[in-house]
Amino acid sequence: MRVGIGYDIHPLVPGRKLILGGVEIPFEKGPRGHSDGDCLFHAVTDALLGAAGLGDMGRYFPDTDPKWKDADSSVFLKAVRKLMEEKKLQIQNIDANLHIESPKLAPHLPKMIQNLSELLGIHPSQINFKAKRGEGLDAVGRGEAVAAQAIVLLS
Ligand code: MG
Repeated sequence: MRVGIGYDIHPLVPGRKLILGGVEIPFEKGPRGHSDGDCLFHAVTDALLGAAGLGDMGRYFPDTDPKWKDADSSVFLKAVRKLMEEKKLQIQNIDANLHIESPKLAPHLPKMIQNLSELLGIHPSQINFKAKRGEGLDAVGRGEAVAAQAIVLLS
């Protein structure tokens, strides 16, 4: 068994789409980032790489590379899935926290889980996502940022 952890945070700015877990959520702000800024997928990608002992996203998908400009973050997960298959590693489960003050994410979590299960070829029951508010504290609580933490278990 191998465990991995991932974390990501992006500033929320006007004029960007809010895409989390591959779901576009209607909102007046979205994450600033080199790619689409999907911090949930980024945290899961880093957790998978960490569990596999393969470093981090920056090693494979540097944000200085124009190839990843505005990229759909599902490409990172597809690439990491291939790396894990090469190492004969299987995902047991993924758990993640998604931190945003608003909008409410709970109605979107099932679709995010569905998206991730399809991208990684696992059953939705192997994935758990939780939406958390910042209660007015720190950058998330002030509505300035969106963040995600993920943990995965591989065998
Ligand atoms: Mg990121």
